[in-house]
Amino acid sequence: MKRRDFVSGMVLAAGATACSKTPESGASSTTSRQDEVFEWKMVTSWPPKLPGLGVGAENIAKHIERASNGRLKIKVYAGGELVPALEIFGAVSGGTAQMGHGASYYHKGKVDAAQYFTTVPFGMNANEMYAWLYYGDGLKLWRELYAPHNLVPFAAGSTGVQMGGWFNREINSVEDLRGLKMRMPGLGGEVMRRAGVTTVLMQGSEIFTSLQTGAIDATEWVGPYNDMSLGLHKAAKYYYYPGWHEPGPILECIVNKQAYDSLPADLQDLIELACQAMNCDMQAEYTWGNAQSLAQLTQDPNIELREFPEDVMNLLRDLTKEVLEEFSANDPWAAKIHKSYFDFLAKSADNQRISEYAYLRDRARSR
Ligand code: CA
Repeated sequence: MKRRDFVSGMVLAAGATACSKTPESGASSTTSRQDEVFEWKMVTSWPPKLPGLGVGAENIAKHIERASNGRLKIKVYAGGELVPALEIFGAVSGGTAQMGHGASYYHKGKVDAAQYFTTVPFGMNANEMYAWLYYGDGLKLWRELYAPHNLVPFAAGSTGVQMGGWFNREINSVEDLRGLKMRMPGLGGEVMRRAGVTTVLMQGSEIFTSLQTGAIDATEWVGPYNDMSLGLHKAAKYYYYPGWHEPGPILECIVNKQAYDSLPADLQDLIELACQAMNCDMQAEYTWGNAQSLAQLTQDPNIELREFPEDVMNLLRDLTKEVLEEFSANDPWAAKIHKSYFDFLAKSADNQRISEYAYLRDRARSR
């Protein structure tokens, strides 16, 4: 986006014209910059009013507008309203919108290594991702990766560990995976493909109809809270866990670089803080919502909750290793991110084993 295009989207507060200067005229005083009002668009990958992901994106915009006292107003668009749900990367990079909310693994084919910043099969949970992003090199690498694409990324929410997905037939062995047509994005989708599944990527709003009509045999989406909001429990019988492919996916907020650079420093900080706050809020919403929704699902006589068989998990784990090794051997950015990611995970795994894992294992035994 050219700078003048962005500036045309900025309006000055009434009565402030005399003492305000646009970024183009080199404003530097804090007083004058406090009078500038910015009107932005945020495009998202989510169906309208979707709990968690969609409402979370709206809340980021709402908090920024309130906390900036109206200086940064952000109009939020659901997937397909302004641009297609899976095309926000190009829309924000090119300046059609100044901001976007979605998931970095949707950009496979444009910037393949970005998939690491959403989630890695059998990889880190959300807490570990936040540790790596904020205290390790994660966010730094993410910003370097997106810089040539004219984008500044922020971690902006997580669903927590997801579910394995909905299947319209039983999965009793690896043989049962062969020939399935399943909606699954990201590295997990590539793993499933190698297990004999035909994987497809489709936006959230298309999943229910595709599953109900038999256009697909299976789908992953998120977890009980969001899956029920799409009605997936009415379209398939078998609900499998765990979400091996998305153990703690991170959502992204992306900002057009020129738009970001045009903001005064306090509004830049406000975007960072609003996204950090969403990391806490969204995970809390999913932890709460999943517990309520799972309780409902387990009462439904038409639903069978199943754990993937051990041989299926073993195959998926082996294939994940193969996929990641090939990916990092062929993509220099993937290699760089892979090393940083797994250097931390190797240490974190030991810590998680004696803390979260040991605690949850013993809590389950005591029930
Ligand atoms: Ca998912």
